[in-house]
Amino acid sequence: MGARQNGTYPGAAALRWTAVPTRYDLDRDALVARLAGEPRYRVDQVWDGLHRQLAEPAELTTLPKALRARLDAELPPALTPVATSTDRRGDTVKWLFALDDGARLETVLMHYRDRSTVCVSSQAGCAMGCGFCATGQAGFQRHLSTGEIVEQVVRAARRARDDGRRLGNVVFMGMGEPLANYDRVWSAVERLHGDLGLSARHLTVSTVGLVPGIRRLAGEALPVNLAVSLHAANDDLRTALVPINARYPLSVLMAACADYLRAKGRRLSFEWALIDGTNDRASDARELAELSRTLPLPAHVNLIPLNPTPGYPTRGTPRDGVVRFRRWLDDLGVNATIRRNRGTDIDAACGQLAARVELGGRTRVTAPAR
Ligand code: SAH
Ligand code: SF4
Repeated sequence: MGARQNGTYPGAAALRWTAVPTRYDLDRDALVARLAGEPRYRVDQVWDGLHRQLAEPAELTTLPKALRARLDAELPPALTPVATSTDRRGDTVKWLFALDDGARLETVLMHYRDRSTVCVSSQAGCAMGCGFCATGQAGFQRHLSTGEIVEQVVRAARRARDDGRRLGNVVFMGMGEPLANYDRVWSAVERLHGDLGLSARHLTVSTVGLVPGIRRLAGEALPVNLAVSLHAANDDLRTALVPINARYPLSVLMAACADYLRAKGRRLSFEWALIDGTNDRASDARELAELSRTLPLPAHVNLIPLNPTPGYPTRGTPRDGVVRFRRWLDDLGVNATIRRNRGTDIDAACGQLAARVELGGRTRVTAPAR
């Protein structure tokens, strides 16, 4: 950092790492203040250019050249692409970005038949220590600022547009625990909704189960989706897989989920990464069904075979075991969908590309487009 460090940015004390705001850190009022001396309609042009046109300042040719140069100098981008990988069919794009202070994060864009979704990071690393997760294995570096989160979405939306698609969905399922970085994540949610025009119903926050965060989310006006990474429905196994369960055990977590459902009336989903011989047995399905029955509305379960990571020896459940587990849930009256294991061929599992690059492993890396 160093060169870009000064203390003029509101909230700078809390964001020691990016003391100068990056392009998407400023809200509209802060941009007005930053561009003091410029007429208001110019500020509006800049704002619309950045948020509606998803443009780089240099592309805003309706602005005077001097202002474009000023924007470039005073509002630097937050993210520098280090590596971009695309799967064979071009429907999954993964970026590894470097931040101002050298921290790294990942963003994944996925084109589905009927929609395009970006998976964004909320922290560089994660402090939650889930053993099966590459991000958890690497540990915590720092929180991301609001601008660092919003810019991931902007870059993915630009890429989607270049691919002839429209980005419609954002999931906070990249690196980090979003509810451990609540204020900045929530500001990003509000910006994505209010400024980028994404529907709140197309924004999904995924949590390992931080109960105070779930309770705060229940009180917010915007009805975003909540996904809880459950992975186990008894406390012993869940604490082994997800250590934070020792602090917020299933009874406490389920009470928060029930209150969330009552407050929001929205569908809740449970994420379940199927781990061979660990949480894919008939007893696991039964426990999950019993737990679901304690909720006022049925939850939807997303089954994902565990992606391999360098630091976790057990493999993901093979395909036939995944199908069997889903059938058990079906018989028990639990709705479940098998999620495609997106992009294992480009290391698109949570945290894997960063891990591979740092380990000097073999990753198909192409020159970043931007
Ligand atoms: N920290 C949040 C969001 C980021 S992780 C959370 O835990 O929910 C996003 C999802 O990826 C979570 O459901 C997490 O459990 C899952 N995940 C992590 N490592 C994985 C792996 N190796 N294979 C499959 N899913 C994984
Ligand atoms: Fe963190 Fe989520 Fe990975 Fe657990 S699964 S270590 S909470 S990113």
